Amino acid sequence: MSGGRFLADDDMLLIHGAYHFWPKVVAFRNDFCLTCQAPTRSIAVRTFDVGHIFWVPILPVGLWKHWRCAKCAQEPHTSPTTRPFFKWAGLCILVLLSITFWAAPLETSDVWISWLFRLGAPAASVGLVWHLLRAPKRASLRQAMKSVGPANDAICPFCQTPLMAGARWFCPGCGVTRY
Ligand SMILES: [Zn+2]
Ligand SMILES: [Zn+2]
Repeated sequence: MSGGRFLADDDMLLIHGAYHFWPKVVAFRNDFCLTCQAPTRSIAVRTFDVGHIFWVPILPVGLWKHWRCAKCAQEPHTSPTTRPFFKWAGLCILVLLSITFWAAPLETSDVWISWLFRLGAPAASVGLVWHLLRAPKRASLRQAMKSVGPANDAICPFCQTPLMAGARWFCPGCGVTRY
């Protein structure tokens, strides 16, 4: 649903991404937010997006809809935990460091540095493995979404106008659509 995936969003590296101009609330739905770990209300904001590289706007890409959790303002279906890939990559580096420093002969001048890595790197590896194995399994989103019923508001939550019934109910007052 989120068009924001097309271009890197603001949570990505700063060297490229998208500016979001003229935000307008266009829709709402019942949702499950992975950041809140709870059923929530999500709000879709439509913006005019312009891609940028090094903050120089270069590529108008038009109108996009971005879903955001009404409670925490995060993209509801993006897990807040660090991508596990980076943790596993960190673990590989720590293990390599341990091996390297145990394989290398002790430097007589800076023995303490060698011992710092000989003991520190394996200790950090063990800690990271423990953390990786212990990380609670996130409720699967598909499962969680089953517990979320569709929104059934009859009154617009933004401007209190009665919604117009239809395939998708919408607000004649402010134009939002109920999903
Ligand atoms: Zn949330
Ligand atoms: Zn309204």
